[in-house]
Amino acid sequence: MTNKTITNFKNKINGDLTKDKITVLQINLGKKCNLACVHCHVEASPVRTEELTPDVCEKLITIIESFPQIESIDLTGGAPEMNYGFKPLVAAARKYHTEVIVRSNLTIFFESGYEDLPQYFADNQIRVVASLPCYLEDNVDQQRGKGVYNKSILALQKFNELGYGNDPNLIIDLVYNPLLPVNNNFALTPNQVPLQASYKDYLAKHFEVKFNHLFTITNIPVGRTNLYLEKNNLAQDYLQFLEDNFNQATLPHLMCKNQLSVDYLGNIFDCDFNQMMNISAIANSSQKITLDDIIDQHNLDLISQIQTANYCYGCTAGSGSSCGGALI
Ligand code: SF4
Ligand code: SF4
Repeated sequence: MTNKTITNFKNKINGDLTKDKITVLQINLGKKCNLACVHCHVEASPVRTEELTPDVCEKLITIIESFPQIESIDLTGGAPEMNYGFKPLVAAARKYHTEVIVRSNLTIFFESGYEDLPQYFADNQIRVVASLPCYLEDNVDQQRGKGVYNKSILALQKFNELGYGNDPNLIIDLVYNPLLPVNNNFALTPNQVPLQASYKDYLAKHFEVKFNHLFTITNIPVGRTNLYLEKNNLAQDYLQFLEDNFNQATLPHLMCKNQLSVDYLGNIFDCDFNQMMNISAIANSSQKITLDDIIDQHNLDLISQIQTANYCYGCTAGSGSSCGGALI
């Protein structure tokens, strides 16, 4: 194990990260999921029951309707499709021509009651962002469970049949995240551009699957990932590795700059990692902000300072990382 001390992230960046104008509303609809992946930072699974309430859903719809500055709503979970509020939020966003992104695990479409969802996605021009942590079967099933790879390929073929990957209004992106380390020979997430080319070649050649973009995402040491690292005595070394690869040039592009992240209870955070760690967003008044504050003050930009922690080294290492992939 390293003997070095991790530099506090705030000291590393010489101060605070500041918020830009909010254009993305990311909503975590709940913890229900048909899978229980080892790297899951929100610790979702089939036995979790927490989900959005009608009251919180109504407030979110009011916000979507009130703020044309919101360019995207980004629905996540758990499996967002399984949690309360999914279709009402899609309907609200589409009414105002706001982009809808759904972070889908692709296997949900094989669960009873969800088989017709790909057509619903196409009808509503939902942008699909789907995790496929490798283009090889063994690596995917190791991370996500046996059979997940085959179901994912079948779902991608179904989306292609509906026009995804060809029609410019039907976008499907894939997400790569590395396997969790087994020792302290850590590596940065591979370069997104050549890896995207490898994914495209392999999936086209073997399955005639097409997709738009590949996003590479770093494993951020929170939630189940951090539990795994701690259990294997790798947590400190991994954080040190991330700090050693800190890249100042990523800072202006971090996803927390222009995003609000809302949990199923309606609490507001700067990003979903802070949400997982229960580090609330703080308004200029030094208070936590609520959905009611935004509605009552008719102001989406109540935060100037982003709350940071040492796991922010995960977003700022190498080419950087976000829900939309590498930053630079
Ligand atoms: S599919 Fe996504 S939300 Fe569900 S357990 Fe896996 S990583 Fe977590
Ligand atoms: S974890 Fe990443 S996205 Fe969240 S506050 Fe830190 S740098 Fe920003």
